[in-house]
Amino acid sequence: MNQKTTVISPEALRIQQENCQKIRDYWSALGITPVAFVDTYGCQQNEADSERIRGMLEEAGYGLTDTEEGADVVVLNTCAVREHAEQRVFGNVGALVHTKRRHPRQKIFLCGCMAGQPEVVERLKKSFPHVDGVFNTHHLWEFPGLLLRCLTTGKRVFAVGDEAGSIAEGIPVTRQNKLKAWVSIMYGCNNFCSYCIVPYVRGRERSRKPEDVIAECRELIEGGYKDITLLGQNVNSYGKDLGIGVDFADLLEEIAKIPGDYLLRFMTSHPKDATEKLYAVMAGSPHIAKQLHLPFQSGNDRVLKAMNRHYDRAKYLELVRQARAAMPDIVLTSDVIVGFPGETAEEFEDTLSLIEAVGYDALFTFIYSPRPGTPAAKLPDPVSRREKNAWFDRLCETQNRISAARHRAYVGKTYRVLVDGRDGEQLTARTEGGRLVRFSGPDELIGQFIPVRITDSTTWSLCGELV
Ligand code: SF4
Repeated sequence: MNQKTTVISPEALRIQQENCQKIRDYWSALGITPVAFVDTYGCQQNEADSERIRGMLEEAGYGLTDTEEGADVVVLNTCAVREHAEQRVFGNVGALVHTKRRHPRQKIFLCGCMAGQPEVVERLKKSFPHVDGVFNTHHLWEFPGLLLRCLTTGKRVFAVGDEAGSIAEGIPVTRQNKLKAWVSIMYGCNNFCSYCIVPYVRGRERSRKPEDVIAECRELIEGGYKDITLLGQNVNSYGKDLGIGVDFADLLEEIAKIPGDYLLRFMTSHPKDATEKLYAVMAGSPHIAKQLHLPFQSGNDRVLKAMNRHYDRAKYLELVRQARAAMPDIVLTSDVIVGFPGETAEEFEDTLSLIEAVGYDALFTFIYSPRPGTPAAKLPDPVSRREKNAWFDRLCETQNRISAARHRAYVGKTYRVLVDGRDGEQLTARTEGGRLVRFSGPDELIGQFIPVRITDSTTWSLCGELV
């Protein structure tokens, strides 16, 4: 894997703008207004990348649609984190053969993490001839040029080389939501957790310059965005590659100085790089949500070592203690993997006991999924799927009980929430800690921070009334 970072030059980006204009000219000569469908799989980083892909498509004159049927270009922005997600993408790519038959001028592109795996690219080349183009995350900024080449030559295009990881500022962005925005502060990952494919498909950590991130956040806040999530595979290592003495806590503190009515969040934090300095910055600003997603993955030290996580149970529990000391009401969420290769029943019990000890507000739970090419995929894995399923069920029951109890503690209290939409008869909103609240009220409240009294709760959400 190429370890360098390339900052894409303004000149190279200007050429892509020209390519957008050439695509506009191409369609206008045909008297057609083209439409595009972008389908996103996986994590928030992919959601953020899809917003840039939509931005480039709009710049090239495409309208956006929410179905592949009749679309002139379909882009599948894929995820490689779990086998199940990959199989789903292959199924959906296969089905596109029919939509293309009904709409022969349709161009089909696949990008994202799956496009970073050589064996996937080979399979697409050989077995999916209706796919017109594939580009990995390093080449995202080149999409207009690839699309133009495909339209004008009719040939398939592949931009999947093991290039230096790129940072491209100034790509147009079409945001899906008018209230909530994703802002990538860095790309790639250096951690090589033994089960994870991300460092192989997204390259090494590369941080955007602080001034670029701050300018984007300022623009969003001035544009009325109320909820901004800073994104990175490990935000806590932000800045290490820049060599200018700015870390993630410094960046967060600077962004939070921007005046306005908004909340900042961030994900994901790696425990090995979490610091008390970060917690102090969080505690010190009303603009930073008191919410921390801190993946622990396992409660057992041997398994954590086999996962190459670089912390142990004691260090993790200490981080939780420090976070709660700085912010007593902090909402804590986490990721956990059940059935890592070689995990024993006793080791799984350690995971359960850690969940009890921390008392998370919510957990994202996964059964281990082997990713070819990662060290964990080569480990012996004697525990049956049936047994792993049984562990998983116990873990979910434990967390559901804890989540329900934590939600019950909200009842009778009043919280400031951001109203973000309507679900049937009720408005939906989020607390500062990201908990879902439903209550009755008029549509005019959507987009506002308002106080709501919590009247009831379930495992997953809260019910309330306007104060
Ligand atoms: S920190 Fe670990 S799990 Fe997260 S993206 Fe990097 S390698 Fe994957």
